[in-house]
Amino acid sequence: MYRFGILFLMLSLSCGEHKPETKMEVKKNKKIVIAHRGASGYLPEHTLPAKAMAYAMGADYLEQDIVLSKDDVPIVIHDIHLETVTDVAKKFPEKKRIDGRFYVIDFTFEELKQLNVSERFDPATNKAVFSKRFPAFTSTFKLHSLQEEIELIQGLNKSTGKEIGIYPEIKEPAFHQKEGKDISKIVLEVLSDYGYKTKNDHCILQCFDAKELKRIRNEFKSKLFLVQLMEFEIDEKIEEIANYADGIGPWYSQIIKGKDKDGKWQIFGLVEKAHKYNLKVHTYTFRADQLGDFESFEALLEVALYEADVDGIFTDFPDMAVDFINKRD
Ligand code: CA
Repeated sequence: MYRFGILFLMLSLSCGEHKPETKMEVKKNKKIVIAHRGASGYLPEHTLPAKAMAYAMGADYLEQDIVLSKDDVPIVIHDIHLETVTDVAKKFPEKKRIDGRFYVIDFTFEELKQLNVSERFDPATNKAVFSKRFPAFTSTFKLHSLQEEIELIQGLNKSTGKEIGIYPEIKEPAFHQKEGKDISKIVLEVLSDYGYKTKNDHCILQCFDAKELKRIRNEFKSKLFLVQLMEFEIDEKIEEIANYADGIGPWYSQIIKGKDKDGKWQIFGLVEKAHKYNLKVHTYTFRADQLGDFESFEALLEVALYEADVDGIFTDFPDMAVDFINKRD
């Protein structure tokens, strides 16, 4: 006991000594790792185990894509459809719409809980989308609500003493509107109930729909950190985005142009322009098993994070990104 006591004292002292004030500053500008759908490179996307794994891997934020159920429960799932990640076609064949698809919004939360979740697959062939990842249709995984996921993350924050953030995305607000539902109103209420109200609350809210994000800022008067997701080259709108958002979320091919004739990676001006307008840049999606023209995952991370100077990345492999940044920063 005595020896452990001394050791503990020494550790506390040495930690104290090595905590110069500048470290806080460095940390403030540290590149952030957002676990894209959890540690989805290793476990079926958006399941609670994938979130717990991402948490343990040291991600700074865990992402939640949100779609409403028939009874207005915010469900953490990537698509408004169910058949690419669940056994819905087997369990509720009668609920198929005439377009041949199964919609989250046609199911109550209780019905959704009856489904088993799998690694993403192509329903036409039943083949996994990513062949080297967790095997499809094995073990038991379930869908869950935004509330359940927040409770997992806040619970882990309590038991580990860390402050890992959430990064929810409002999915397809126009579709929800057409179905008679106001998804943003419901999500903002849940976030507020769990203490996510301002930019200091470790919550970043993202949406592709610019009209909806403006509505969140102007109509709902949200004080949260807002990120405008971007699918295509729209950097001429940066000055407009800066009026209502705090950051942008472009695809990395909107940032990295390609190699020049000498083999050097060329960078578009988007990040520089965003930074000029005080917008953070969190770019997607970094996959170690989908590298495009990059020779390695590390090479891709190096170009995006340190040549293009993005502030954060969405990745299916948070452990690799965390390791890379810790070694590099
Ligand atoms: Ca997303």
